[in-house]
This record gives sequence, C-alpha cells and structure tokens, in this order.
Amino acid sequence: MEINIDELTPMMQKYMETKQEYKDCILFYRLGDFYEMFFEDALTASRELEITLTGKSCGLKERAPMCGVPFHAVEGYLNKLVSKGYKVAICEQVEDPKQAKGLVKREVTRIVTPGTNLDTYALDETKNNYIMCVVYVDNKYGVSVADVTTGAYYVTELDSERKLLDEISKYMPSEIISNEAFFVSGIDLEDLRHRLGITIYALDAWYFGDELAVTTLQEHFHVASLDGLGLADYNCGVIAAGALLKYLYETQKTTLDHMTAIEPYSTGKFMVLDSSTRRNLELVETLREKQKRGSLLWVLDKTKTAMGARLLRAYLEQPLIDKKQIEARLDAVEELKGNMIGREELREYLNPIYDLERLISRVVYQTANPRDLIAFRSSLEMLPAIKTLLQDFESPLLMELDEQLDDLKDIYELICASIEEEPPISIREGGMIKSGYNEQVDHLRNAKTEGKNWLAKIEEEEREKTGIKNLRIKFNKVFGYYLEVTNSYKDLVPEYYTRKQTLTNAERYITPELKELEETILGAEDKLTALEYDIFCQIRNTIADQVVRIQHTAKAIAGLDVFASLAVVAEQSNYARPKINEKGVLDIKGGRHPVVEKMIDNDMFIANDTYLDNKNNRIAIITGPNMAGKSTYMRQNALIVLMAQIGSFVPVQSANIGIVDRIFTRVGASDDLASGQSTFMVEMNEVANILRNATGSSLLILDEIGRGTSTIDGLSIAWAVVEYISNPKILGAKTLFATHYHELTELEGKLSNVNNYCIAVKEKGDDIVFLRKIVSGGADRSYGIQVAKLAGVPDPVIERAKVICEELERANMSNLAANLPEIPTQHKAKQKHPDDVDLAQMSLFDTVKDDDIIDEIRAIDLTNMTPFEAMNKLYEIQNKI
Ligand code: ADP
Repeated sequence: MEINIDELTPMMQKYMETKQEYKDCILFYRLGDFYEMFFEDALTASRELEITLTGKSCGLKERAPMCGVPFHAVEGYLNKLVSKGYKVAICEQVEDPKQAKGLVKREVTRIVTPGTNLDTYALDETKNNYIMCVVYVDNKYGVSVADVTTGAYYVTELDSERKLLDEISKYMPSEIISNEAFFVSGIDLEDLRHRLGITIYALDAWYFGDELAVTTLQEHFHVASLDGLGLADYNCGVIAAGALLKYLYETQKTTLDHMTAIEPYSTGKFMVLDSSTRRNLELVETLREKQKRGSLLWVLDKTKTAMGARLLRAYLEQPLIDKKQIEARLDAVEELKGNMIGREELREYLNPIYDLERLISRVVYQTANPRDLIAFRSSLEMLPAIKTLLQDFESPLLMELDEQLDDLKDIYELICASIEEEPPISIREGGMIKSGYNEQVDHLRNAKTEGKNWLAKIEEEEREKTGIKNLRIKFNKVFGYYLEVTNSYKDLVPEYYTRKQTLTNAERYITPELKELEETILGAEDKLTALEYDIFCQIRNTIADQVVRIQHTAKAIAGLDVFASLAVVAEQSNYARPKINEKGVLDIKGGRHPVVEKMIDNDMFIANDTYLDNKNNRIAIITGPNMAGKSTYMRQNALIVLMAQIGSFVPVQSANIGIVDRIFTRVGASDDLASGQSTFMVEMNEVANILRNATGSSLLILDEIGRGTSTIDGLSIAWAVVEYISNPKILGAKTLFATHYHELTELEGKLSNVNNYCIAVKEKGDDIVFLRKIVSGGADRSYGIQVAKLAGVPDPVIERAKVICEELERANMSNLAANLPEIPTQHKAKQKHPDDVDLAQMSLFDTVKDDDIIDEIRAIDLTNMTPFEAMNKLYEIQNKI
C-alpha cells in the first residue's frame, strides 16, 4: 500500500524511521507487552508464523496491516522466522514508559539472522551454527567462518570454486554473507540456497575495504599489527575476516569478547572431501533420511558432552594427512582404550559437564541467568578430579590437554559462595544471591523476614526505657509505623518522641530509629532485588573476564571427550589400531563396514581383505551380482581409511593405511535429480571432477561408471576411465571400481596394475546364495534373473526372462569383449596435466562398414533359423548401423 509518511501518526512515523534503517529485516517493534509488526512485515510474519493479521489505525485512510507476538514468547517466533532464512531486527523500549515524556524511546538492540542466532536452546548442541563470509577478489576466495555461540573464528583462502564448495559443504553454514563480486563469480547460488538451505546475501561494498578490515581486526584483538595473529599471508582472507567481524558487531551490538582468537588455516592441511563424497559416505547423516542414525558419526559418537560431540563431528569433517598428528591421536586413543578404569572414571566426570563454550558465550553476552551459572559451577566441580586423573596418562596429546585444562578454582569458588543452589531463572526477581556473600543483601533480606522481631525488640526497649507499660508499635498507611501511648502514660513520653496524631484516649509518636527501621522494612524488597541484580551482573562480568581460560578448558574437555569416545568404540566394537604409512600401501586384513555391521544381526558381517599399492595393485575391478555386497565393500574401505586419518581405531583385524590426500566417490544414483540435470549428466560431471582433481595419492571409489547410457557408450567410457586412472604418469590413483561390465575384466591382462576381484556367490539349483566374500578373479555371470527372483518379481516374468536370456546368449549378443581393441602398450606420458587429456582419444570400436553388413546378411541361413533367432539377428545388425 502507498504510505505517505507525513500523514502517519507520530508513533508510526517513528516506526517508519527505524524501518528505513533496517529494510532487509523484519522489524519486531516493542509496544508494551508485545512485539508488533506492520505493513509488509506483518503480511510476511502472519503468513510464516501462522498468526492473526489485524490492523491498526495509523493516520492513513486504510488501517496498517499489523500482527504481534507476546514478548515473553518471542524466542520461539524468532527461531521460526530465522530458521526460514529471515533476518529479524528487535526494537526495544529503552526507557521506562512511566518516566517517558512523550513517545517512549526505542532502539534496535540486536539483529538475529540464521548464522547469528544465539538462542542456544533452539540450536542443535551437537553441531556448530556457522556464519561464513566469502570475498571474491582477483579470482581468489577469501573465506572466514565464525560461530557466535562458541566464539570459534577461522580464516582461509581458496583458489578455486571447487575448493570453495568443498569448504561450504564442510562447514554447512546457515548463512553466507559476501561481496557483490561473489554473486557474479559463477557459483550456483540457487543450488546453495535451495538444496543446502543456506541464506545468502551480498553486503554493501564498504564492508570490504582493506583498511576497515585491518582496523576492525586490530581493535578487536588489541594488536598493532595483523602479523602477530598469523594473518600476514592472508590478503583476501583478512578482508573476509574483517567484514565478518564488522557484520557481527552490527548485528549483535555487544562486545564479542568471547571471540578471543582467530585461526588461520590452509586447506592443504586436511584431507579433501567434496560434497558428494561426504554425502555418499554418510559421514554425519544418511543420504536418504538425512538423519544421524546410520551414519559414521552415529557409530563413533559416544561422547558425553556437547563440546565433545561438536569436536568429533569436526574431526570427521576434516581428516588429517600428517602422519605425526594422526599417530599422536592414535596414541591418545590407545592409552585410553588400554586403561579402562581410568577412562570410565574420566567419562563419569565428563558426564555432568554442560556446554561450557556456549555458557561462556552467554556470560559474555550478558544473557546468562543464575541457573546458567549453577550449571557452570556443577561443571567446574568436575575439573580437579579430571586433572588428578590425567596425571596417570602419558601420551603427549593427553598431557597437552591436561596442561590446557585449568581447574578454574577461583570461578568455582566465586559461584559457590555467591549464587543460591536453586535460583530462579529471572535475574530481576531476587532470590539468587546466597546469604553470607554480601552484608547488605543479608541486611535487606533480614529486614524483610525479621522486621517483626526488630519491631518487637524496639517496643520492648522503649517500654523499659520509658516505663510506659502498655506502649505499642502499630502501623497504618498514612503514618507508617508509630508508637502509641494511652493518655494515662502521657507524662512519661520522652523528649525524642515526635507527636504525629492525637486521639481521644491516646497519642501517636514516631522516633528517628523507628522511621529508619520502617524505611529498611518497607524498601527492603525493591532494594534487595535491585542490589541482587547488580551483584549478579558483577559476578557475571568477573567470569566474563576469564573467557580465555574458560575457552581453553572447554577445548581440553572436548578433546578428552572425543578420545575417550573413540577408545570406547574401539573397545566395544572390536577395532584395531591401524599402522600408518606414507608409501601408498593400503593393506587391510579382515575389514568390516563400521555402520553395516551394526545394522545387521550380531556377527553376521563377513570381513574382507583389501590390498592396493602404487605398483601392481592400483586398481581393483570388482564384479559380482547386484546385492552381492560390492558397494558395501568399497565404502568400507573408504571409511576405514578416513577413520584412520581422523585418529580412530578401525574395524579390521589388522590394517596398514597409506595416507591419502583425497577420497572421491562416485556411487549409485545421485540425489541431485532436483537440480534438473539428467542422471547421466550428473554422473559425468562427477567423473570429470574426479579425473581432473584426483592425484596419485588419492583413493577413488567408483561404482557403476557409465551405467546411465547405452551399453556400448557406457562400457567405452568405463574402459577409458580405467585406462586413464591406471596410468601413473597421468593419474595413478588407487581405485576400487565396481562394474556390471564383465568386459572390463579383460583389462587385467592388458594393464599391469589392474586386478580383478569378485564377490563370491554360490549357485543352488536355480537360486543363488550370497557369500559376501571377496575373491580374486572376475565374475562370469551377473545372475540378474536370480536376483530379480529374490526381489519378488512374479514367476511368469522370471520364466520368460530366462527363455529370452538363453536365446540372446545363443545369439552371442553379449560377447562384445571379443571386439575390443588392443590397449596402446605405452600410455601417452607427455600428457601430464589432466586438463590436456582428450578422453575420447581411445576409440574402442572400429566403425563397421556397410559392406560388412551386406555380407553378413547374405550369410544368414534363413531356413535353419527360428523366428526368435531371426529377430535377434536383425536386432544385432540394427545395432551396428
Ligand atoms: P551391491 O552393491 O553389490 O548391489 P550392497 O553392497 O548394496 O550390494 O549389499 C547389499 C546388502 O548385503 C547390504 O545391504 C548388506 O546388508 C549386505 N551385505 C553386504 N556386504 C556384506 C558383508 N560383507 N557381510 C554381511 N552382509 C553384507
């Protein structure tokens, strides 16, 4: 609707002024006990929150659309809007309406966005809630990430779109802010928005000035130069970090003192996992249901604290590639696994520890209430015992954590001495400061409860002093407390009594002492709540000053929790410590799939071996019928490698794991159908990505490459892909390659580093039994019809399929391999850069000449053919044209 500001009522004019400043937000405007929304905001909010839309007369002809939410229930509504990607500006009354002259003064006190939601009760405590800032300059991406609920703050730089997407899928931020250039950099923003549900928008250009970034960071960290923060080499990273910090200041409108450090990192320090690999391997959630149950995290997570749960997830999201670091973690896990009593005691102590990281953030933000402090205290109570326990451990990493862990005795004692055991949630109602902590609090509290005794005492004293035997202290609203003396004792009234009132048979007096007491008693309640509030804030600030110590301790607790969890899982699930090598050998004996073995009946999982190296065992071609267990086998190897590289024990009898720099998977039907590309296109995109980005130290898991097109095209592509990967001068990555094309088993003889494996099945009459055992050699049959039967396809269809199959086999349709050409013996070594390689270079099939077909037709012996054979022949010929 048309809004003419001049016609609006004064209040609505003020509203519009504020709204102008926060155009991109829904404005929650505090009016008494409600937050009201008007105009467009009201239409949006009433729709999204399913609340009634009303109207308010605003000076215009039409009433302004309006809706509102009660202030005490605001968090729920806020969370709902923010989780849908809206930004909400909260405008509060910043003066007491009773004392206001004219309109009550209002100010926006905070802006809540998806990536800056502080309501820790609405967030999943086992996950970080990240906000990411991306700056695209000179073909580079500066990236900074923060979690305002924990104070985590990182920065890095990336040189390609692909790496940026990998980082995005690692952090899964709920909000991305960026410069304008990022919007035209070619990134598929719609995909990020819709598929991943990330709120993305560009900020004004001024956020991204070099100078602003530097001064914002320097001021925040109180340093004279950024070098000391380790940021010297991060030019566009610094801009991203600065813009992010500025944005957080703008939205949070507080000090952000809990962001005590910024951590620069290079992505080269971690294993690279692209988004489809993360999804396919079901690291933190399942592919279909998107739930934790059934994921690797589900198996590994026996953590006791929210901090531990978040750290374990972070470990899974970025496995290490440095042997020393991996071994250090394995040492810690091994020691905890070996010392069961110590470990279980440790886990008992960890159990009651609350989320210290988020608690300290609430303390710094001044939103922590007395119950939060009690939760804090009961957590700190565990620390000395943990420290004592850690004395018994020797692995360097555990000793490091011990050093990092501060028992925070001063804070523990402060809270013990000052905060009631069972305080109210509100900090405005009193009843939270312990007796004995502050004299004045005690005095005021006594005044409330003991006022009557004090009065009785004064009454008694005055009687004695004056000799007025029936002297009484009484109370009324006009005079407050007074002393009443009947006329018969009038003469005994001393000088210091001041007469207030004369009745027919008595007189009423006051004394300074009585008035003082009256003030104490009557004002005690209000004074007490105000004083308790002040003292509480002081205590909270004292704790906030120790934020760095508390964050270090929280990190140490998280680390201990993760290692203890990995140790428990290792023991309960019968895992073994992997050996780690840098020679590229992957040697697994008796490997199991960590998740599938938990999903099926006890001990029913059949373990399998794997051997790959950089010499004659680079590629394993795996054949076997559907349902035999090919993809389980391939994924289990990827997961075992990944687990080893996060420092976990692995589900094997023994394993020697060559560190890999990346794991790529191309598995099954993609879940990207929503993006509108054909399945085959998606598959080829992924193949292209793998071939371009994998290295000789990568591990590739390829399942059914080439399935989405015709048999001959598919086989040709699969064949060429294997040739390409196997060539150490071009790629030479270790690869597990499952396929339906039995023709590919021919490659074993043709390429020295390719070997065939299949998953054994046993024929039992017409049926088959899955043995789940991987053995050398190619499968000779695909048993498709038997598997179809197992799946419950009706008998007539199965019977008919058998007949057709026999006929087709007789017609020799499937013997394509006989026509396959020789592989060039020397791979073309000069093509070192993957981009230079023309994948189509090796044509598999010579074009069949027309003359050949005519000859073939001539040679057909029609009189000796069944109609079905004739049909097949015709089909075969048609395929050649
Ligand atoms: P494929 O990829 O060959 O079609 P899958 O890997 O999907 O087969 O395996 C099919 C099912 O077989 C799995 O869901 C799992 O329950 C079972 N399975 C696979 N491997 C094993 C194994 N080693 N031991 C026991 N059961 C297994």
